[in-house]
Order: sequence, then C-alpha cells, then structure tokens
Amino acid sequence: MKELLIATSNSGKVRELAAMLTELGVTVRSLADFPDLPAVIEDGNTFEENAIKKARAASVATGFPVIADDSGLEVAVLQGRPGVHSARYAGEGCSDADNNQKLMGELAGLPQSSRGAAFRCVIALVLPGGECRTFAGELKGLIASEPSGDGGFGYDPLFIVPEYGMTLAELPLAVKNRISHRGKAFASLKEFLAGVP
Ligand code: IMP
Repeated sequence: MKELLIATSNSGKVRELAAMLTELGVTVRSLADFPDLPAVIEDGNTFEENAIKKARAASVATGFPVIADDSGLEVAVLQGRPGVHSARYAGEGCSDADNNQKLMGELAGLPQSSRGAAFRCVIALVLPGGECRTFAGELKGLIASEPSGDGGFGYDPLFIVPEYGMTLAELPLAVKNRISHRGKAFASLKEFLAGVP
C-alpha cells in the first residue's frame, strides 16, 4: 500500500499515525487534504460501527484506502456508559472537566471494587474495493474519586492504571501511547499493514 487517508481532523491523531505509517513507506493524507468532504454523523451504537462508517464514507468519496478510529470509556457499573457518548457525556458543547465531574458524581461513594472501567478503541481500514477490517485495543483500569495529573486529555485524570498506581494524566505520554487502547489498536493495524504488499 502506497497511500493511505486518515479520516480524522484531529491533528494529534494524524501526527501519531503518520509517524508510525511512514516507517512502512506509506504516504499519509488526512481530511485536511480533502476539505470538501461532508462531516460524518457518529450515530452508531458501537465504536466499531462509528469507525467503519467514517472510514467507508471517506473511501467512497476519495477512492483512497482509509483508516478511521473511534474510542471512548466504558464503566462497568454504569452498564458501559459513557461508551460511544464519551465526548459529549455531560451534554452538547461540554468540556472534559464537565464530563469528569459528571462521572465522579455518578460514582460518588462507591468502593474501589465497583470502579472498574476500560478505554476501548477500534480502528477501521476500508480499501477502495470496499473490503473492511477492524483492529481493537483495550486498557483496563479504575475510576478515581478525584482527578490527578495534568497530562493527556478527556478522562485521563480520573483513569487509574493499576499496574502503575497512577492516572493516565500522571504517566509520561510515551508510556500512555505504549499501553493505551489506541496504542494497542494501532500496533495491530501496523502489523497487518506490514504484511500488505
Ligand atoms: P474519539 O471519538 O475517539 O476522539 O474519542 C471520544 C472521547 O472518548 C474523547 O472525547 C474522550 O472523552 C474519550 N477518550 C478517548 N480516548 C481517550 C483517552 O486516551 N484518554 C481520555 N479520554 C479518551
């Protein structure tokens, strides 16, 4: 594979993926190269549905092989919420701090044994002929009763990684990228692409 479009306008994700893919000799494009593509509404019930929807729409519109990802936090005691609604959990236009406040409120008073959660990420790869593959990654942890650390983004200040005894927002970014749901999904995508002629 010579060229690949990353269907995201998040420049951090493009940088992360581009660094990994150029090692494989793949030229990476992003949605910034296709400003006229219509936005895709992420209304799927699963990360997989949303990732496939985004990748397929961009592949049909451009004729390129495309990857797109979707991710979020699932809290067991909340039956998997916020899940696909992670970005706007506290409402339209809310901030990361609003989402964290809402989550802390919902888990207030619960013991550690009821605070299990997992970040999940699914990356979809859609080829110009329509063939589709998905790659998933997961990071298990616990939701803290109050935020710690100022690295990362989203729910990182509340997400304790038991092996390190720290939140994702306290861990160095290089460690987060290695152990994270996104890092693991990227690693299995990379392994697959390395085998594609
Ligand atoms: P996206 O749709 O994959 O960009 O992510 C949806 C939402 O999930 C983000 O806005 C965050 O709230 C949450 N999320 C996904 N990955 C992470 C992470 O690595 N750390 C913290 N929050 C995350």
